[in-house]
Amino acid sequence: MADKNELIIRDLHVNVEDKEILHGINLHVKPGEVHVIMGPNGSGKSTLSNALMGHPRYTVTSGEIEFQGEVINNLSPDRRARRGIFLAFQNPLAVPGVTVTNFLRTALTNRRKGDVPPEVRPQNLDVVGDRPVYETKKASLGGDGANIDRKKRQTLISPKEFRSILKDKLSLLKMDEKFTRRYLNDGFSGGEKKRLEVLQMAVLEPKVAFLDEPDSGLDIDAIRIVGEGVNALRGKEMAIVVITHQQRILSYLDVDYVHVMMQGNIVKEGGSELSREIEEKGYGWIREELGIQPTLEEVREEVGV
Ligand code: ADP
Ligand code: MG
Repeated sequence: MADKNELIIRDLHVNVEDKEILHGINLHVKPGEVHVIMGPNGSGKSTLSNALMGHPRYTVTSGEIEFQGEVINNLSPDRRARRGIFLAFQNPLAVPGVTVTNFLRTALTNRRKGDVPPEVRPQNLDVVGDRPVYETKKASLGGDGANIDRKKRQTLISPKEFRSILKDKLSLLKMDEKFTRRYLNDGFSGGEKKRLEVLQMAVLEPKVAFLDEPDSGLDIDAIRIVGEGVNALRGKEMAIVVITHQQRILSYLDVDYVHVMMQGNIVKEGGSELSREIEEKGYGWIREELGIQPTLEEVREEVGV
């Protein structure tokens, strides 16, 4: 029996618009581990994170995504999120009119509604996520908590509890409270958007967090902030998968495993020494070693046109 919060991806094939983009990905992520997926532009990194999250444009044609000992291929993105899978987007949306605080509170409420299979849910207790939230006479959250009424929703997390969580996380990440009163991503710099993603991760406490290119378009200071933030959040529980095509963020992160993706396959795996080797020598040597022909896109990227 797999560990409760292990993520196991087995021989995953993914199509986008009838074209196969991923050709059999295997990945095993255990609680507390930090993984990095590296690879040239167009190699399929974002496709993997989108497929993992259940984005409707990304069709899994074969293979399995197993989480918490259960195949989740057919779960909606929402239910995956409630189980504790988190994806920080490469380009998050701006939502003028919604403050960071309100957004985070709603997100945490949804997360806490949980999606625990009925057989592991204790009787006479509303279990939300993996923790009991409050006791009632009957467990009335329903299968996925969809029918929860307004009053209960408020009880799931009281304003006081939320303020205290937010305060802790802000101080953990050395962030100013002013930030939380701003509108979501509205006029945010690249660095601020990434800070918000890290803050969201801190508040939601996912089991597995995927960060897609958290370093793209960021100056070195912002990269340090993301790297240090991720380091502050890593612990025995949360597993973190950082997707990047650069190496810069890796100077701030202690990494357990590095996976190199090329042309829809994971072609090489190792520890942090592998990312250093790529930093020095690029990807060409890996292709040569494995006899992979470069794509036009890869050639362009490497010669910089
Ligand atoms: P990476 O994140 O490694 O740069 P992607 O996963 O974004 O790579 O892209 C992998 C391949 O899949 C590319 O050839 C890209 O053109 C194609 N692809 C990805 N998403 C889409 C999409 N939504 N529509 C069409 N093609 C896509
Ligand atoms: Mg990408």
